Amino acid sequence: MKKLVLASNNAKKMKELNALLAPLGFEVIAQGALGIPEAEEPHCTFVENALAKARHAAAHSGLPALADDSGLCVAALGGAPGVYSARYAGEPKSDARNNEKLLADLAGQTDRRAHFTCLLVLCRSADDPQPIIAEGEWHGEILGAQRGADGFGYDPLFFVPEFGQTAAELDAETKNRVSHRGRAMQQLIERLPSL
Ligand code: IMP
Repeated sequence: MKKLVLASNNAKKMKELNALLAPLGFEVIAQGALGIPEAEEPHCTFVENALAKARHAAAHSGLPALADDSGLCVAALGGAPGVYSARYAGEPKSDARNNEKLLADLAGQTDRRAHFTCLLVLCRSADDPQPIIAEGEWHGEILGAQRGADGFGYDPLFFVPEFGQTAAELDAETKNRVSHRGRAMQQLIERLPSL
């Protein structure tokens, strides 16, 4: 098995990635298990933040590292909250307050278009000149009230016309297949043979 460090300590992401990468001969290790601290995410683009996280984990571990950065981009808000999605309503980060703020910011707004974006970056080493970069988007609309109890983040407000459900109403298997993260992972896997 080839070892791959995940620049995140999120247990859900670990599980999802392990399931996808184990059949391809990869053993995914959380950076926290190696004592690696979380990297800064100071940039205004998803790709730069994901790259910073992957490079940081590769530098500390000496192993190939995979990082993701994701968020919600709302058309009527000029792409906000974007890279600030996790802390849209300030510290400490709270999904409930983020969703309340999003509803308040869109009050009276008829253009409800939004999409999730996910950037995945895999660095073979800290100075890899050609990291593998994959991107996925998931398009939908922001509802006027929350629906559904599954998922996390903005899922209860994110309506997917294709399914007539919010992301919080979709079953996990469907969400993982069609979501921004799922699509980015599929793209990454297609590009992995170059690792
Ligand atoms: P991170 O990249 O996991 O830190 O996610 C950034 C933030 O974007 C999360 O805290 C959520 O607020 C939002 N987000 C990213 N992906 C999703 C998703 O699949 N559903 C709902 N919210 C998401």
